[in-house]
Amino acid sequence: MNFIDLAEQQRHIRTKIDARIAAVLDHGNYIMGPEVKELETQLADFVGAKHCLSCANGTDALLIALMALGVTAGDAVFVPSFTFASTAEVVPLVGATIVLVDIDPRTYNMDPESLKRCIALVKSEGLKPAVVIPVDLFGLPADYNEIIPIAAENNMKVISDSAQAFGATLDGKSPCLVADITTTSFFPAKPLGCYGDGGALFTENEELAALINSLRVHGKGTEKYDNVRVGMNSRLDTVQAAILLEKLAVYPQELVSRQQAAEAYTEALADKFVVPHVPENATSVWAQYTLAAATQEERKAVMDGAKSQGVPTMIYYPKPLHEQVAYKDCMIDPKGAENSCRAAQTVFSIPMHGYLTSDEIEKVIKSVGFNYFLSEVKET
Ligand SMILES: *Cc1c(COP(=O)(O)O)cnc(C)c1O
Repeated sequence: MNFIDLAEQQRHIRTKIDARIAAVLDHGNYIMGPEVKELETQLADFVGAKHCLSCANGTDALLIALMALGVTAGDAVFVPSFTFASTAEVVPLVGATIVLVDIDPRTYNMDPESLKRCIALVKSEGLKPAVVIPVDLFGLPADYNEIIPIAAENNMKVISDSAQAFGATLDGKSPCLVADITTTSFFPAKPLGCYGDGGALFTENEELAALINSLRVHGKGTEKYDNVRVGMNSRLDTVQAAILLEKLAVYPQELVSRQQAAEAYTEALADKFVVPHVPENATSVWAQYTLAAATQEERKAVMDGAKSQGVPTMIYYPKPLHEQVAYKDCMIDPKGAENSCRAAQTVFSIPMHGYLTSDEIEKVIKSVGFNYFLSEVKET
């Protein structure tokens, strides 16, 4: 069994992907070819956004977003400590300061109360609170209803790192519409992934869209050889856009399958583990289906048990950023980031993709129960 079965997905759409790639080879516009525009239009329509601009990967998307918002030295940028390194690593690249915020233990997303404490800390240190980057971790939108007003009160901009949550909803619509800029990734293992690197930015703001369009092509003005600002080279390859067009066509159906798998997991496993909490006003795209065990030891026993049954599991993420060598000296919530630490010690994710069969779902459920009562057996 695979943790994410990209081969099974490919089997379903291979002929269409082959035809799409062949079309690119025929027309030969490998950079910014017609498929790129076609994809951007479809992605924008999918989430109901005004502007979508593709780029080379999800990390570049975050960097371009910071550049477009003019973030610079003296600015503080708030990111959750429990996330993939990308969210934080782009901040020093524009000369700004990373501030690590703790998470809500129920959703694993940024805790608005921790954000407030971090903003107060930053002000007392004479830095300017500039941007908050909530992450839609594991496919679930962050708590934008709380975070956006906090950002507004403090004259801050919001970048949503939605690398794991393209297609998720909050209050019935895409959270892509609520942040100043939303970024996503098409890394192969993401819910909507291509066959290489890819990313995109979404915004409702015409001026920001024009800036992003310039920044991704060397700060171009009227054309590539007219450079009106310092930019970068970050474009989505035409071949990847062509592949994504076919993947996007089956994405709605895959989201239904992911939701069904998640519901089956939750129903069977809620009495054994802490199962994912999806607030009533939100839907997840289930980038990961993440369980929490009672302790680190119990997690290891469960993961070993699943492995012995041929079921792969993964830990996202084994260390919060403030415990990583590269980020250990960053500013952090004065109360610490205990929820991030605890999540790193207890969570693990089980197989999730759009092509899980009911037999596979059952096998996964049985396999994680396999060693579960180990700790209780030992106590008696
Ligand atoms: C994958 C990911 C990114 C980066 O995307 P790449 O395309 O790999 O650069 C950023 N943030 C989060 C939360 C991610 O999961």
